[in-house]
Amino acid sequence: MQQALQRSNLVPSGFVVESAYFEGNKAVIAVRALGSVGLCPSCGTVSRRVHSRYRRRVTDLPLSGRIVQLLVIARRFRCDAVTCGRQIFTERFAEGVLAPSARRTARMESIVHHLGLALGGRPAAGFAKRLMLPVSKDTLLRVVRRRSRPPTDPLRVIGIDDWAWRRNHRYASIICNLERRRVVTLLPDREPATAQAWLAAHPAISIVARDRGGGYGKRQQRPCRTRYRSRIVGI
Ligand SMILES: [Zn+2]
Repeated sequence: MQQALQRSNLVPSGFVVESAYFEGNKAVIAVRALGSVGLCPSCGTVSRRVHSRYRRRVTDLPLSGRIVQLLVIARRFRCDAVTCGRQIFTERFAEGVLAPSARRTARMESIVHHLGLALGGRPAAGFAKRLMLPVSKDTLLRVVRRRSRPPTDPLRVIGIDDWAWRRNHRYASIICNLERRRVVTLLPDREPATAQAWLAAHPAISIVARDRGGGYGKRQQRPCRTRYRSRIVGI
């Protein structure tokens, strides 16, 4: 069965093509995300309030023998959650499409990774150039190293406590992985809603260690964690 070839079929899923033009030996395709909302990475609140737009250039797979650059018109959203410390956030794209701050699309990164694995740094860089994949030998090796790292274990045992941005003035919450003895993240404040949202996004956590103050205990007793059983250890 025949199917019409749309411009959006040429770019990663989730993007809509705004325009396309040649710039020297490159094909530049301006795209924007298909969805109309953004999800705050701190608290998970859905926002439709666009603060501003900015442009990202990322390399995609070549097209008809030309290097392809996507000009991604990305949005910054306002977070309206009262308890969230983040007022403005940049939109995220699907993990298998474009990672935050990435300079290549995920499908391009996958090709770079396999080239690096098969040929090594310098030979892979030479071959990539013939395939119109602009990537240096250092980048190839960096991608191989990064993807070769074992996946991090899911967080299971954490400790949560106060952390001072400025003593006696502004406090945040610090979360540590007690199994690996490493800081996991800093939450922007000490509000129960902020900690609840973070815990809800990490359902593998089964033990939370806290001090005996009342605030952190309340955060664990809310029903946001009904999907799993939590054991709270006072320290
Ligand atoms: Zn937020």
